[in-house]
Amino acid sequence: VRKHLGYSPIPGRFDTVQPIIRKSGSRSDPNSRSITTFRASILALLEREALDARRSMVIFALDGIPHELAVALWPNAHIEKMRSVFPTTSSSAWLSSLSGAGVEQHGIPGIVFKLGGDQLINVYQYKGPLGVPPNGNIFSDAARLGYLPISVRGDWEAFHCAWLDVLLNHSRAVFGYRFYTATPTPEPDVLAAAVLEAVSACLEEPSVAPQLIWCFIEVDRHIHDHGYDEPVLRFLERTDEIAMRLVERDVVVVAHSDHGLIRTNHDQSIERLLAQIPVEFGCAAGGAGRTRWFYPRPGTEDRLVATLQRHLPATVRICSADEAFGIGSLACARVGEIVLIAEGDDFVTFGGHSFDHGSSTEAELYVPYAHWNA
Ligand SMILES: [Zn+2]
Repeated sequence: VRKHLGYSPIPGRFDTVQPIIRKSGSRSDPNSRSITTFRASILALLEREALDARRSMVIFALDGIPHELAVALWPNAHIEKMRSVFPTTSSSAWLSSLSGAGVEQHGIPGIVFKLGGDQLINVYQYKGPLGVPPNGNIFSDAARLGYLPISVRGDWEAFHCAWLDVLLNHSRAVFGYRFYTATPTPEPDVLAAAVLEAVSACLEEPSVAPQLIWCFIEVDRHIHDHGYDEPVLRFLERTDEIAMRLVERDVVVVAHSDHGLIRTNHDQSIERLLAQIPVEFGCAAGGAGRTRWFYPRPGTEDRLVATLQRHLPATVRICSADEAFGIGSLACARVGEIVLIAEGDDFVTFGGHSFDHGSSTEAELYVPYAHWNA
């Protein structure tokens, strides 16, 4: 059976499939740069300002916006193409953007994973130490250059977890503004006005230092259910307009995103398979969205991989943690040994979602770095 599957339980295993890193590497656009360069871009902007006007800066953090859409809808912005990390999960990608560390370095590989030992955590709920190396972020850079670093919690207002504390460390939190988490979700024009109001309230606070204001807007929440529909497009058009309003007020305006989303069909046979495996193999499961993993018990790896290969469509890549996350990395030590990556339309989604993210298709991978002060 093993020979038939081309599978052997030694390093370099799962050799029937191409490693995700090699594959996404060959696919990646040479005109793109990693989102891990975002921190350095902001630092360069702040350093340039420090020599001269020291204007305040507003950064819109728009969850779930692909590069292409920003190019189409932000005519006033200068837009560069950035490449998200693997997996294209919000917790991994935002931390990579703000800290400049790759997933292998910061060790947050998704939502559900093991920190070490046998305990699975959900990173959006866990309140203990995460072991992320403390190497600063855009906020500590801003503070060092004499800026007042502020994070408008926005759609993360209801989240209380160690991951968010690490992500927004060194910033002063501002509460009281919800956008896509307001109920019911406001109309696009009202949403854009709320975003402008949130950052304007910060800018109008008396401050001896210029401000760096990072504002989180979870458009992703709407896209999971509705895709890139008319209300999303209109909100993005309004974003270009409010950016220009801020530029007129002599503010430096930047926007970035963590990943795009792609249409994903919830396949009930895959759902049944993924639910049955932990029971049948007595193993834990983790991951998020279009990238999942299993923690096989010793000696069961062969049979587990064979079962997955037999029942999953060819568009679901099966690979090892070493291949997906880099041998010996912090992230690799935290994920399960067998990783599933949805490369096609069919996988499982949560809560009836029709759009999802987590793997490395083009739609998920490429995101904008937009700057309005040309
Ligand atoms: Zn996200």
